[in-house]
Amino acid sequence: KKVADRYLKREVLGEGTYGVVYKAIDTQTRQTVAIKKIRLGKQKEGVNFTALREIKLLKELKDPNIIELTDAFPHKGNLHLVFEFMETDLEAVIRDRNIFLSPADTKSYLQMTLKGLAFCHKKWVLHRDMKPNNLLIGSNGQLKLADFGLARIFGSPDRKFTHQVFARWYRAPELLFGTKQYGAGVDVWAAACIFAELLLRRPFLQGSSDIDQLGKIFAAFGTPTSSQWPDLVFLPDYVEYQYVPVPPLRSLFPMASDDTLDLLSKMFTYDPKARISAQQALEHRYFSSAPLPTDPAKLPRPA
Ligand code: ADP
Repeated sequence: KKVADRYLKREVLGEGTYGVVYKAIDTQTRQTVAIKKIRLGKQKEGVNFTALREIKLLKELKDPNIIELTDAFPHKGNLHLVFEFMETDLEAVIRDRNIFLSPADTKSYLQMTLKGLAFCHKKWVLHRDMKPNNLLIGSNGQLKLADFGLARIFGSPDRKFTHQVFARWYRAPELLFGTKQYGAGVDVWAAACIFAELLLRRPFLQGSSDIDQLGKIFAAFGTPTSSQWPDLVFLPDYVEYQYVPVPPLRSLFPMASDDTLDLLSKMFTYDPKARISAQQALEHRYFSSAPLPTDPAKLPRPA
């Protein structure tokens, strides 16, 4: 049975933050696509209009490192978003013990992530929910950011599904301190967590609650001082913390090169105003020094 007279539904790919994701065939292009079915509350008709207007903007967001939203339509009280189909995601790559990631491979994955981010940030669109399973990988090895802008349109993701609490591990300190005026820096912090995860092959800062998450951040980088982060004391959930001495970053990433540690520390800067931007990160010498990033087509992927 066709959906919207165009898409042939296949199997369920998974349950995501906003609803079920199906595999489908686009009968117009014969391409395989992924359709995300988003439950819309009946009482919120106004939200639907806003959502559709915002989604129109997302359709214009075209970049090699952003997953393309090819179609969007309401159907039986659900909003359907059609995306290009992707083979796997970065989480599967990181978790696969049979995959060896060389420094050049890690560099390539980070470069594609930052390219996608820089493009969206230039258009004033934030992701807000960056995590390895939102970084999809196509059959040609290209990494593309998924779910861009959805967090803003549909509100903070529904955290009732247990697997979604993992997003906490990628949350920037300003969000954990309750800031309401956050910017592109939240995505850069998350990208830094993903960079660290590529190096360690396990999530870097695994907090078990929001407070514990801050504790994990402080243990890694020391408690932020007011000279490091002048606006900290004005944040809604700010409380004074006991000083924790800073361990050298080198001790947490013993195998990393100096360039790696320098970029990592600039992305993990406490003050979002002082944090490196995605574009600046791409211009860091880490990307121009040897080893050069692996050609995406040659990156290792799960069998
Ligand atoms: P989450 O909200 O937890 O990030 P998603 O809603 O993005 O999850 O996706 C749910 C499932 O659907 C995931 O397991 C993901 O692998 C799959 N999926 C999402 N988008 C695509 C796509 N474009 N191509 C293939 N699979 C996808």
